[in-house]
Amino acid sequence: MKKYVCTVCGYIAEGSIPEQCPVCKAPASAFVEKTGNTADEVLSAANALAAAKVDAVFTPTDNTIMNSAAAVGEIFAEAGIPHYAGADSFVRNGAFATCGVNYTDLGTQTADLALEVLQTGEFPEYVTVSGDIITVNTDTAATLGLDYSLFQDMGSQVVEVQTTQD
Ligand SMILES: [Zn+2]
Repeated sequence: MKKYVCTVCGYIAEGSIPEQCPVCKAPASAFVEKTGNTADEVLSAANALAAAKVDAVFTPTDNTIMNSAAAVGEIFAEAGIPHYAGADSFVRNGAFATCGVNYTDLGTQTADLALEVLQTGEFPEYVTVSGDIITVNTDTAATLGLDYSLFQDMGSQVVEVQTTQD
């Protein structure tokens, strides 16, 4: 199903463009198509959002988007749009920033938990995982001309990475 995003408030309409945005009352002309089921559609949606000069973009952790991550990151960086992503791998491919977990620590925690369950036979009622590590791509920040120093107060740690192609 086709999806359209309101470039004023970010509301997402499915199927067709509404006469006006139900959230911010922006006109139909404020909506751009953003369906992304294939790599071509992802790039087309990214270009449409860039052309609409949206304030910022968030892409979730998604294999279709991951396959186009480098190209998508470049489109938004060149358009001066901060691109926030669902995982640090996207940031290493050119997105601006993400907030999440350290997957190495998460794996260690999971292994420790599995060992504890095997040794004691008891399952913990719940487990918490810290998810406040902010990863910033300093190359993208420079392209955007953005100062990300305020992230220091928002997470437990700010990890600086550069763009890699892997
Ligand atoms: Zn709106």
